[in-house]
Parts: sequence; C-alpha cells; structure tokens
Amino acid sequence: MPGFEWFGDEERKEVGDVLQTGVLFRYGFDQARQGVWKAKTFEEKLAARLQGENKETVYCHLCSSGTAALSVALSSCGVGAQDEVIIPPFTFVATVESVLMAGAIPVFAEIDETLCLNPDSVEKAITPRTKAVIPVHMCGSMARIDRLKDVCEKNSLILIEDACQAIGAEFQGKAIGTFGDMGCFSFDSVKTITCGEGGAVVTSRQDLYGFAHAWSDHGHDHIGSDRGMEEHVFLGANFRISELNAAVGVAQLGKLDKIIQTQRENKRAIKDALNDIDGLTFRDIPDEQGDSATFLSFFLPNQTLAEKAAEALGQGGVDGCFYWYGNKWHYIKNWGHLAQLKSPAPLAAQFMEHRPDYHHLSFPESDQIMGRLISMQIKLSWTKEEIGVRIEKMRKILIDILKDK
Ligand SMILES: *Cc1c(COP(=O)(O)O)cnc(C)c1O
Repeated sequence: MPGFEWFGDEERKEVGDVLQTGVLFRYGFDQARQGVWKAKTFEEKLAARLQGENKETVYCHLCSSGTAALSVALSSCGVGAQDEVIIPPFTFVATVESVLMAGAIPVFAEIDETLCLNPDSVEKAITPRTKAVIPVHMCGSMARIDRLKDVCEKNSLILIEDACQAIGAEFQGKAIGTFGDMGCFSFDSVKTITCGEGGAVVTSRQDLYGFAHAWSDHGHDHIGSDRGMEEHVFLGANFRISELNAAVGVAQLGKLDKIIQTQRENKRAIKDALNDIDGLTFRDIPDEQGDSATFLSFFLPNQTLAEKAAEALGQGGVDGCFYWYGNKWHYIKNWGHLAQLKSPAPLAAQFMEHRPDYHHLSFPESDQIMGRLISMQIKLSWTKEEIGVRIEKMRKILIDILKDK
C-alpha cells in the first residue's frame, strides 16, 4: 500500500502553497489564505473520484486519521454507549479501538476466504443490542459488500465500511466505501495514498455529513464566515486535519489512478505466473476487476506448509510477504491487550455485563483461513526485470514446498 513510493515535486508544490500563506488551519482566515483551501480541495476531489459515473452524491469530510474517521462515523451514525458493533477478527486493531472509544462493545464474527466478514456469521452474531456492522475491506480487496448490505437492511443495522486499506477498489463499478451509511479511509504513512496522518469519512447522506464535520470540530456548524459566531450544535471533539497534511493528500490523490493501474499490472503478472502451481490457491475476490491490488494474498494447503513457505520466501529474498497469523498487528489471536481490555483508564465496555468474554473467544473458521494465508505487498517501483526475478524465486520456493504436501 505504498503511496510513499511516489513522493516528489507534486507534494512539495502543494505544501509550498500552504507555507506561502502561513495559514495551517482548514477553516477561516479568508483574507490571509489567498484562496488556498487544501482540505476543501481534497474533499471535493475525493468525493468526485468516489462518485465516479454514479449519480448518487458523495459527501466527504477529512479527519486527522483513519482511526478518527471511524470514531466520527460511529458517532455520526448514533452508535455509542452499550451498543454492540459486529467487526471481523482480522483487521488493523484501530477498528476495535474505535468501537471501544465510542463506549460500545465489539462483537466479532468470522471471516471467509475473502479475508473479510462472512455474511452468514454476521447474521448469527446479531442480538437485540446490535446497532452496527463494520466490514473491513482488508489488503486492498473487498468484502461481500452486497450481501453484508442486505443483512444490515434486513435487520435495520447501520453499515460502516472500514475502507482504510481499500481506496480505489470497486465492487461492480461502485467505489468501495460508498455502500454503507458511512465509509472510512486512512492516509497514514503506509496506505495506498498518504498524507502523513489523515483520514476521511464519506457518505451519501447529508444529515450524516452534517454530524461528521460538526463532531470533528467541537460541534461547530460551520455556517457563515465568522468562526467565533458559529453555533455549537452539540458537544464534539477535535479530529481535524491540518492544511499541511491535506496539501500532501491533494497531490497524492492526483496519483491514485496511476497507482491503482500499476498495482494491478504488477499483481496480474505475478498471479498469472503462479496460477498453475498445484496446491496453491488465491484469496476469494468478489469482483476481481475492482481489486485495488495492493496485495497478492494466497493460501497453502495447511498451516505447517504456510509457515514454511513464509520463512522460505523471506530467506529466499522475496521481501514484503506477511504471515498475518503470527503477526502482532492484524489478527485477534495475538491481541493480549484486548483479551484483558487493558487501558490506562476504565473503558465503558468493562462495566457492561453483556460484553463477550474476550479471554475465551474462538474463531475456528478464521483460524483455519489465517493459518494458511500469506499476503505479499505489491510495490509500485518494481521494474519488469525485478518482477521476473521475483516470479522465478517464488515459483521455485513454492513448488519445492508443495511437492510433498
Ligand atoms: C490503517 C487502518 C486504520 C487506521 O488508520 P490510521 O490512519 O492509521 O489511524 C483503520 N482500519 C484499518 C483496516 C487500517 O488498515
């Protein structure tokens, strides 16, 4: 997910515009800023990009991070104290944290071979307290978002998409992040496009957009041009982005199409070359054409062989391969702090008796999938020759490991 690979004069120019005026705040200072509005520009361009050919309006509000975007989305959608929110056990831990910060209770459902929430498992996890579902579009591809949307509609649940890893992905021609009541993106330093630290919430609902920009800025209604005279429609927080970060984002967004195209070409070349290896299978992608192609994710027949392959790939010079099942960041198995709800201050969830027993959760289906999974990051900077060498090394290692399966 390497937007940082393509960083250059475009980013320097946009940041230079802001430094020229000295106005680092996204609101106000109308005279001093000399027409430079980087956050607004980024929001307009991202909304237009996500809207695409679709007629449906997309509203976009930038935040200080993807985690902030999730918090803003939960709050704007009315998810808070005591509510249960269904999320996957394979995600970046920020998804879990945002639910806890909202005073709500994370409830986990299984994933399937899309590496995202299994819609049937979501249905089974619904209780009378369930308020929302947050599918996470992991590793650049998409969940079965059509089916998850159906489940939410049928059960009157809010749908918030964590699309932090999937900007530029589409399902049946519609942008990932625009299926739910709200969608969240991240522009942290390792995402598909980066602005250092930043995030965005998007929605087609004007009311939710209104809550989102006000909640992110102490409840300001942002009406008129005198900030001191603005109404505070409710209590809020500060999840604002700065103009400096937004400026980098404007430049990076301009590169998004090229980034996605390059990732798709590089991924296609490698995937095609590994396709005939007996025993190797690939992640289930509900709409392969819409894959943003940040990762190539593949399965070995069992955990032992996957561990062996991950090690051999690393030692054999095939860098950027992740074995998430053993990794501390992305799978619930390794989140001891969640099991204990460890926090410097008491969390609302600790006081709620109906919370799951996080010590004793089990995910047989997800374990079975994660144990066999390796994901390889797709780089933008690879040359054709480098891709050729990589393919050769991968084939040799994988065929060797799979020969006595
Ligand atoms: C990166 C990420 C986040 C959080 O984004 P930050 O900008 O780092 O706060 C949330 N969810 C997922 C799935 C992510 O990958």
